[in-house]
Amino acid sequence: MQSGLINGVDISSSIFNELKERIAVLKSKGVTPGLAVVLVGEDPASQVYVRMKGKKCEELGMHSLTITLPEDTSESDLLKKVDELNKDGRIHGFLIQLPLPKHINEDKVLNAMDPRKDVDGFHPFNVGKMLIGEPLFLPATPAGVQQMLLRSNVDVAGKHVVIVGRSNIVGKPMAAMLLQKGKGADATVTVVHSRTNNLEEYTRQADILIVAIGKAKFITKDMVKKGAVVIDVGTNRVDDPTSEKGSRLVGDVDFDNVREKASLITPVPGGVGPMTICLLMANTVKAAEMSL
Ligand code: NDP
Repeated sequence: MQSGLINGVDISSSIFNELKERIAVLKSKGVTPGLAVVLVGEDPASQVYVRMKGKKCEELGMHSLTITLPEDTSESDLLKKVDELNKDGRIHGFLIQLPLPKHINEDKVLNAMDPRKDVDGFHPFNVGKMLIGEPLFLPATPAGVQQMLLRSNVDVAGKHVVIVGRSNIVGKPMAAMLLQKGKGADATVTVVHSRTNNLEEYTRQADILIVAIGKAKFITKDMVKKGAVVIDVGTNRVDDPTSEKGSRLVGDVDFDNVREKASLITPVPGGVGPMTICLLMANTVKAAEMSL
């Protein structure tokens, strides 16, 4: 058996089309949704993500602002920038690209953001709202995974979802979201991590397996139940002398082999990645709608 693919490019493009309609309505009311991204330092991966976000804003006809600050920017200068963005009427949502340089306290910066502009959903206010089932902004990656499942007609209600990884940006919010009551949720959720004993005993029980650990091809065929739905959040760059760049992206799942056992599976690239940027844009449009 070879499983079906959940194609993040196709699903995100239909969400982008829906967003374009909402953006047109906003523009007819004199509002152009605006997203600002603050990048501190010169981390190459962060630079790529920031460029992608700016480009997508332009494609959608949104206002985009990229603020690049030097690596040695002080915490107080960054906090001033946050304050300016909180007050800027053209900016409906903004985010601080993580990780920040070590001398800056990430929590302090996140806490200083206006939660109504926190389109990453990382402010403690938004984390709390999500946990009690009254979300303002859902974090983009787990929200993207939830949309992939919904739009692929995978009903998670009553199913055993096993999430591998417990980070604040993927694993934990993913668990909280699927545990809620209602559409796209009502799952029975298990979260496993690097301190879990006999991890494969849990992954083998999963009707839906969501993996976000950052270890190339960690999940092998023997760790997956036959017919499971497998969502691979991981993005790992590995050497590949046959490719032009000398490297390529792979997920946390051994795709070629697991594909023989799963019913549905996401590829890397072209799976969760495109959904993340899409849901970030959706949050920005929502923030602009909230400003009316
Ligand atoms: P973190 O490094 O913040 O968290 C990794 C999690 O995986 C931790 O909870 C860690 O456990 C767990 N883990 C690590 N090694 C193992 C192991 N051997 N067995 C079990 N659990 C393990 O990563 P993120 O959540 O930020 O990201 C995870 C992956 O997802 C990365 O590859 C990242 O690039 C990718 N990603 C992709 C996105 C996309 O848009 N496609 C968006 C965000 C992330 P512990 O807590 O015990 O240390």
